[in-house]
Amino acid sequence: MIHNFNAGPSILPLEVYEGAAAAIMNYQQTGLSILEIGHRTSLIESMLEETIQLAKELMKLDGDHEVLFLHGGATTQFFQVPMNLLNENQTAAYLDCGVWGSKAIKEAKNFGMVEVVASSKDKNYTYIPKGFNIPDDAIYFHYTTNNTIEGTEMFSIPDTNIPLVADMSSDILSREMDFNRFALIYAGAQKNIGATGVNMVVVRRDILGKANRKLPGMMDYRQHIENKSMLNTPPVFAIYVCLLTLRWLKKKGGVPAIEKINQSKANLLYKTLEEKQGFELTVAKEDRSRMNVVFLIKDPSLEKKFLEACKEQQMVGVKGHRSVGGYRVSLYNALPMESVQAISRLIHQL
Ligand SMILES: *Cc1c(COP(=O)(O)O)cnc(C)c1O
Repeated sequence: MIHNFNAGPSILPLEVYEGAAAAIMNYQQTGLSILEIGHRTSLIESMLEETIQLAKELMKLDGDHEVLFLHGGATTQFFQVPMNLLNENQTAAYLDCGVWGSKAIKEAKNFGMVEVVASSKDKNYTYIPKGFNIPDDAIYFHYTTNNTIEGTEMFSIPDTNIPLVADMSSDILSREMDFNRFALIYAGAQKNIGATGVNMVVVRRDILGKANRKLPGMMDYRQHIENKSMLNTPPVFAIYVCLLTLRWLKKKGGVPAIEKINQSKANLLYKTLEEKQGFELTVAKEDRSRMNVVFLIKDPSLEKKFLEACKEQQMVGVKGHRSVGGYRVSLYNALPMESVQAISRLIHQL
């Protein structure tokens, strides 16, 4: 058995692979592959509708939010968000907690003023700033709920009346959250909810239509809402993989059930790393991510032993991001407890 700790694209449930493979060969007994069916057919329209409804159900969204499936990855949302929400003479507030958040900040500056309310750059993004102040005139406040590269996660939702915007690419649907508190949520699918090639965007209708610039149709959330994510050919197959993953999650008991499992997986691995001599956890304890466990190995010979053991026991994806080095073990929803037990055993035995 291969233990897949990849950070993204990352492991999905086995039944998702099986369902996706079957749909490529013969989609719902049509004799056609899902790859060769027109998107404006009842077959695909109903598939998309089910995906949207299931996402709303799992996130317990109220009637004010729309769920969209768009192209371009989370990176497109870095600019599509300010393009739709922020005018040139207005200010958006951002929290700077890592590589992805700082990319979002850079893009937003092209569309309006940006106030960085706090940053953890002073300590290489190893903690989440607390007690920061969001200015009253900010049009929205943007943050990353889980910092995939640095291994920090922000567990509390800021207590503010400013509309909240969050990049949830790497912890969406991994833990209970009041998703209705957010004006806009986006997530690239390839970490917790599906295959590369699609973004899930959740948006509250009332924040749209206030920016005064002209938007290309494909960049305008309102046009996507009107066209039910079918403004052009949607990434049908990637959306189908999301549907299969969401169905799997629902069957597992939904977000509350997966959160319990995710908590025990993270507890086990962090405990192992705390106990093992030579391994170092650099992230502030209260901000440790349950999705991406980042650590260093101080002694080069131990490091070598660790890598060899990983190779021997078919553990893939443990290398840290090229910007931080060290190691990163990702524990997304689909990663089974057995894989965490296996790597914990491996570390104990080094
Ligand atoms: C992976 C990731 C991104 C980038 O996603 P793309 O789909 O490659 O654009 C952005 N933000 C976070 C938090 C991520 O984990």
